[in-house]
Amino acid sequence: MRSHDPIIAIATAPGRGGIGVVRISGGSLDALLAKLFSVPLKPRHAHYLPFNDKDGDAIDMGIALYFKSPHSYTGEDVLELQGHGGPAVLRRILEHCLETGREFGLRHAEPGEFTHRAFLNDRMDLAQAEAVADLIDSSSEAAARSAMASLSGTFSRQVNALSDRIVHLRMLIEATLDFPEEEIDFLEKYQARAALDTLRNELAGMVAQARQGMILRDGLHVVLAGQPNVGKSSLLNALAGDDIAIVTPIAGTTRDKVVQQIHIQGVPLHIVDTAGLRETDDTVESIGIARSWAEIEKANVILHLQDARSRQDELDAAITQRLPARTPVLRVLNKIDLLSASELENLLVNQTDANQIGISAKTGAGLPELRQRLLDIAGWNPGTESPWLARERHLSALSTAGHHLDLAAEHASHDDRVLDLLAEELRLAHEALCSITGQFTSDDLLGEIFSSFCIGK
Ligand code: GDP
Ligand code: ZN
Repeated sequence: MRSHDPIIAIATAPGRGGIGVVRISGGSLDALLAKLFSVPLKPRHAHYLPFNDKDGDAIDMGIALYFKSPHSYTGEDVLELQGHGGPAVLRRILEHCLETGREFGLRHAEPGEFTHRAFLNDRMDLAQAEAVADLIDSSSEAAARSAMASLSGTFSRQVNALSDRIVHLRMLIEATLDFPEEEIDFLEKYQARAALDTLRNELAGMVAQARQGMILRDGLHVVLAGQPNVGKSSLLNALAGDDIAIVTPIAGTTRDKVVQQIHIQGVPLHIVDTAGLRETDDTVESIGIARSWAEIEKANVILHLQDARSRQDELDAAITQRLPARTPVLRVLNKIDLLSASELENLLVNQTDANQIGISAKTGAGLPELRQRLLDIAGWNPGTESPWLARERHLSALSTAGHHLDLAAEHASHDDRVLDLLAEELRLAHEALCSITGQFTSDDLLGEIFSSFCIGK
């Protein structure tokens, strides 16, 4: 990525709005500004101006804001043009700037390129840059709060503090390595074992928090599986609170998967209603069934719905058999409103079975318990709302660091203490932590991270 040529993009969401913003960033925008405007722009001042085309006709009236490097989002010179938020107006402003700026190399920005530049210019570290995208993508208030905490550096500071202490311990060890006669005393002298144990505990705490942060960011994939007519679509509607799947009493009407996102205590749940899982000659229906199995493979939790009145039959046994062994399955006995009093009592006695729950999609009975079970299975712990949002990448880096600290502790506990091996494990732990904030990160990974951003950010 050539990081100094000026880039431009519409920064506001596509569609109509009160205001729309076109944003330009570049190493120096002085010459471009002189060509675009007849008056000089004062940095950090709002200038109310006509945005003229090349013939001097006004495209729009709006506000121009100029941020001089390094006091800007990207750390470069940044120009923001706030016009009226219509797609045609914004496109004309963009096209006019592109034409005027062509001689300076002005081009369309790639997805995430503004934030990528902010990272390269040390305006934020990698975990913060990721939090920008996560904040924009947040689907619940809880997720947005956590993303903002990451963006403001809470997560990075915690990672850096831990990483500094690991470096400190390693420096002590390496200093000792130069004086072999002191090696024996080293561990006692600096209480290195206790220090290591504290570090390991704190890291384990961060791994647990990262898991929570990941649930909040990525949500849970829940699949509704079961025979036709057991009430899968009805349950989805009841959980979603509005009608998105067609509920009919004709078997096999849910032909394709339907995904609905809902939230439980701020945790996003992606619920997939599957086509009835049965043998069929109907091609359309069988395609739906093939997709259902594909969804089931990806699920974090499977709800295997059954009619509370009928006992588990051969088809249910066959479904159970095909479900992936690694995925937790909750047996949901639906339509308990149709049970007789004694049947219901019988079922409730078994309600303590952690793998089974009785509900009625029709009356809503048992749904609060079902929601809670889903969160429990996901490992969601509402008492410890994650102070930051985490990605798979962060969790894996924290786990790698933890693994190396464990190995370091093992070296420290042996009689034939090998201080240089201990130091090496600490170095690897440190390196893993640094990858979170992006101190040692390959261009490939950066490309992958920023390309998933929206354009204009
Ligand atoms: P699916 O094929 O598994 O998606 O089942 P549907 O959600 O389409 O439901 C099949 C039929 O069962 C419909 O007539 C629903 O109204 C009915 N049904 C679903 N849940 C319940 C329930 O909890 N109680 C009763 N009485 N009927 C239900
Ligand atoms: Zn259905």
